[in-house]
Amino acid sequence: MNKKFYIETYGCQMNVADSELVANILRNNNFELTNDHKQADLVLINTCAVRDKAEQRVIGRLGFFKSAKRNNPNLKIGVLGCMAQRMKQKLADEQHVVDFVMGPDTYKRLPEVLENVNNGTREIDVVLSKKETYDDLKPYRYNDNKISGFVSISRGCDNMCTFCIVPFTRGRERSRNPESILNEVIDLRNDGYKELTLLGQNVDKYNWNKGELKFAGLLEMVAKEVPDMRVRFATSYPQDMTDEVLYAIKNYDNICKYIHLPVQSGSTRMLGIMKRGYTREWYLNRIEAIRRIIPNCAISTDIIAGFCGETEEDHLQTLDLMQTVQYDYAYMFKYSVRPNTYAARRLPDDVPEDDKSRRLSEIIELQNKLSLESNKRDMNKVFEVLVEGTSKRDENRLYGRNSQNKVVIFEGDKSLIGSLVDVKVESHTQATLLGKLVNSDK
Ligand code: SAM
Repeated sequence: MNKKFYIETYGCQMNVADSELVANILRNNNFELTNDHKQADLVLINTCAVRDKAEQRVIGRLGFFKSAKRNNPNLKIGVLGCMAQRMKQKLADEQHVVDFVMGPDTYKRLPEVLENVNNGTREIDVVLSKKETYDDLKPYRYNDNKISGFVSISRGCDNMCTFCIVPFTRGRERSRNPESILNEVIDLRNDGYKELTLLGQNVDKYNWNKGELKFAGLLEMVAKEVPDMRVRFATSYPQDMTDEVLYAIKNYDNICKYIHLPVQSGSTRMLGIMKRGYTREWYLNRIEAIRRIIPNCAISTDIIAGFCGETEEDHLQTLDLMQTVQYDYAYMFKYSVRPNTYAARRLPDDVPEDDKSRRLSEIIELQNKLSLESNKRDMNKVFEVLVEGTSKRDENRLYGRNSQNKVVIFEGDKSLIGSLVDVKVESHTQATLLGKLVNSDK
């Protein structure tokens, strides 16, 4: 009989995609997936290290699984991903419940690691690779709704922003072979998926064969290959996002009109301390290019409040930039010191906790207002919506997303799930658009 594994995933979309690779490796090695950890012979936690909060959640879960292991001493517990890579041996030393620790580039060794663990060895494999892109593995897509799937196009990050742990946990930047990307895209279409998201820490640095294929070319190639599917991508990087990419988005109806462009701060001085490689003016020029080339494009961002040396004036510049850009949505964070980063080693974490919290609250408050205004601007417009499921609050309502990545809720029959429909917006909240089905015959 097959053994059973249970997997929990924390953090970014990249981790979700990695867990799908891990699930495939295990299924090829006589394991089957269970959604009930009580049934599992193997528990895996795929972790995030970007902020301390994410790590504390994982520590909490490991505490929880301690009692599960008491009930089932044969249960094996593995920690995967960025926190595993960051903490290495220390994680197993501090958390006795952990049987093995594996970083993001080592998953192909999982069968061997499990064998060693079953023979009583505690395994720590955190070797980072300059080449591994898991080209030859087909993800086992257990996470999604069979409507929308992730396709990773690159791994790692070379940017070395001073606050960020990612280059240390995910290693050097490397692009995946376009042929294997296309094969995965075609697999998705053949499996009935309607949407895909191309993933990379910095998709704009995609570079195959020394410049033979860059991100704009890849995006066009994918859009042409599956004209009946929606194409999304994340994450763009302000310094590297070219007009060619913007024209590709404009020229292909099936490339969604939505760009996530993390700014982090509105102050050129802070951007310098963060080593982001661009200024406020450069960023605003990129926003101007998006607005000019793709007028119906939604824009979201990431913002960090209270990074090292941030003054009140810097903070006000962030609020001012938010007003200028009029973001549709934002992910907003309080700065969290990450061990080994340049900031942790060289820059004093000198913004008082109260100021950090207040600045974050001001940023969130402003964004709530901007999101509400953005949704108000959509009143009475008709959007094409890809229906993803029934609304959690009301079984009779469906939800989906428009090209701009906004959630739209409307009344309709469940048979529409997975199809594209037209919905007219009749009201809205700050988070969602509410509308009426006007055409389900597309
Ligand atoms: N690669 C993307 C980029 O650099 O634009 C984002 C990667 S990171 C997984 C997602 C977001 O987490 C970042 O854009 C940043 O806003 C936030 N973040 C990263 N490090 C952080 C830290 N030390 N404290 C607080 N937020 C952080």
